[in-house]
Amino acid sequence: MIVIKVGGSEGIDYDAVCDDVVDLVDTGQQLVLIHGGSHLTNQVATALGHPPQFVTSPSGYSSRLTDRAALEIFEMVYCGQVNKNIVERLQRRGINSIGLSGIDGRLWQGTRKKAIRVLENGRKRIIRDTHTGRVEQVNRTLLWDLMQVGLLPVLTPPAVSYDGEAINVDGDRAAAATAVALDATDLIILSNTPGVLGNFPDESSLIPTIERDEIQQVIQTNAQGRMRMKLLGAQEALAGGLRRVVLGDARCSQPVRRALAGEGTVIR
Ligand code: ADP
Repeated sequence: MIVIKVGGSEGIDYDAVCDDVVDLVDTGQQLVLIHGGSHLTNQVATALGHPPQFVTSPSGYSSRLTDRAALEIFEMVYCGQVNKNIVERLQRRGINSIGLSGIDGRLWQGTRKKAIRVLENGRKRIIRDTHTGRVEQVNRTLLWDLMQVGLLPVLTPPAVSYDGEAINVDGDRAAAATAVALDATDLIILSNTPGVLGNFPDESSLIPTIERDEIQQVIQTNAQGRMRMKLLGAQEALAGGLRRVVLGDARCSQPVRRALAGEGTVIR
């Protein structure tokens, strides 16, 4: 079992990802696909007059500020356009896939945060009434049942709180939790970068391998912005028993195959 997370940043080639998924399924590989949708969400949110806002936690992790309006735009794009486009691409290639958010079937459950602490111009501030949280439980039975009847799950945030509210969760960490719940061997995280860059944004500074006990150091010294969350997800996946996590590029042909062959940043 492998879990593939494809990001939502600019430049990602979803056709290439889906071509690889088909090839892998044809060889009998079991897999679950998880996706993002950040770039398109930002565009739609701006067009709708509710431009995206991002916050940074005191420990340096950035995330989308998700009030109710932002959550609903997020759902339109992630659960609507992006999810259905990927499912359609797979259907066109003869793969019977099913698109679900973490709300559906209580696939991804977690606690809704009562408040988030953010750092703004060097000062700490508390923001309440956000719709965010973290995946704590994965409905693995539902995923296995879907796969049992021949459906390929295509999953996307948001998740659902124990009280039944939609909560925005980080897709990379949700992918890690899913991979652990399914006893996957590999987690492939694809984005619009060759992997983890030692000297971001210099693409020739790719770090080819990171040992598990070096992850925190890379988070502190090399990763900025959203890459930090990916590395945190990788750390959680390895702590949960995965064999390896590969951070690879989704702007090229055969992105999944290349990552499985070790192209990108391999973390083990
Ligand atoms: P996606 O939505 O595709 O999952 P994100 O935007 O969440 O992608 O995260 C990938 C981004 O992380 C890259 O586009 C890049 O701007 C940023 N980044 C920050 N630091 C690094 C780094 N050291 N190496 C690579 N990417 C980095």
